Amino acid sequence: MIDFSIEDETRSQIAKVREISEAGLKYSRYYDEHEEELAPNRLPEADDFRGRGVAGRGRRLTATDEALFIFERSSVDGIPLSQGRRDMGNHTLDAMGTPEQKERFSHLSFTFAMTEPGCGSDTSALRTTAELHGDEWVLNGEKIFASGGIRSDGAVVWATIDRDAGRAAIKPFLVLRDTPGFSVASKEKKLGIRAQDTAALIFSNCRVPRDQLLGGNEEVSRTGSGGYRGAMATFNKTRPRVSAVGIGHALGCLRFCKEELEKEGIEVEHGPGMHSRSAAQQMLIEIEADIEAASLSVLRATTLADSGQPNSLEAAICKSKAGEIARTVPQRCLEILGGSGLSREHLVEKWLRDARITDIYEGTGEIMRLIIARQILGYSSEELR
Ligand SMILES: Cc1cc2nc3c(=O)[nH]c(=O)nc-3n(C[C@H](O)[C@H](O)[C@H](O)COP(=O)(O)OP(=O)(O)OC[C@H]3O[C@@H](n4cnc5c(N)ncnc54)[C@H](O)[C@@H]3O)c2cc1C
Repeated sequence: MIDFSIEDETRSQIAKVREISEAGLKYSRYYDEHEEELAPNRLPEADDFRGRGVAGRGRRLTATDEALFIFERSSVDGIPLSQGRRDMGNHTLDAMGTPEQKERFSHLSFTFAMTEPGCGSDTSALRTTAELHGDEWVLNGEKIFASGGIRSDGAVVWATIDRDAGRAAIKPFLVLRDTPGFSVASKEKKLGIRAQDTAALIFSNCRVPRDQLLGGNEEVSRTGSGGYRGAMATFNKTRPRVSAVGIGHALGCLRFCKEELEKEGIEVEHGPGMHSRSAAQQMLIEIEADIEAASLSVLRATTLADSGQPNSLEAAICKSKAGEIARTVPQRCLEILGGSGLSREHLVEKWLRDARITDIYEGTGEIMRLIIARQILGYSSEELR
């Protein structure tokens, strides 16, 4: 039987996450409106929580714990008091790195640099090259939309070692920030998630030691997807996380909406039938159900990951569902709230903008539905594209 109950220890950790997020809340609007500035790696309020972190003593956080914390954190939406030491590229290091690579590089943060000006959903269009010259790989190309690309210590750069060989020749390379030939071209200006540094990166004759090819496999397999499998392993870990972020914003909108209605003496009652509810109450109940369904789909994906089982189908399902929730819930809440929903005095309009990315990065909603259809119907990516 699937047990959806949350342990007391996890509950108290979630409460702590809320407290920490609320401490960072006063910076949220500032960094939304000052996109050109980077939030400090450590805010003064971090000292108030020194030694009172979320991780339980001696207990490793599971993917499910993390998802529950992310729901809470992004429903409050405070700027992190101190920046984490892990970016998306670290998940590729975990999935593909050799023991030596993990030992050497896991303490550093790595952005994930796959997308290029002509390569988004269709990764086989990737143009960045890596050529072996003696004991070094020489990387040339341009990457865009690398999340954390300015702050991170380096990048996991996806490049082809043979342009004629398709996805099988796409490999991930660990490139440290100070490597000559690696530069940040620009910081992207965005509709939402403006506190997050998203960057365009350039690699120009960037020479990387041969042993920084992640996993060390220099072969180009003529069957299967080769190094690209590591990208999939990364997404299986990170799609539930970004789904949780979007769902958290939707939850923030719902909570705010309910509070505003309560101020007007309107409570959402679940008991009575539809005939005795107002349209707003009915809409909020439907939103609650949608958020619950999306949250459970995330927890299904993380529970499988925690027990070491394949979860690529479930990760795509939760991402597709969360993308939809993140697009529609803030919109519906805004309808109920009217003008106050659009006011910058509150965060609903910000969540509407911030949540929009959920259905775009780490594979768009359309691509998620392709993945789901392929897996359920048994088609290959060549047969259903
Ligand atoms: C804020 C932000 C952060 C990001 N962070 C990262 C990051 O850290 N690292 C990284 O590598 N990338 C990152 N990305 C890039 C992101 O993953 C891509 O934007 C995304 O994969 C879509 O690619 P595209 O923008 O080129 O759109 P396209 O692939 O051109 O798609 C355009 C539209 O066509 C649809 N479409 C495309 N192909 C199909 C198909 N076969 N069937 C049906 N519909 C299709 C798409 O769903 C979409 O609606 C980020 C993007 C943003 C905006």
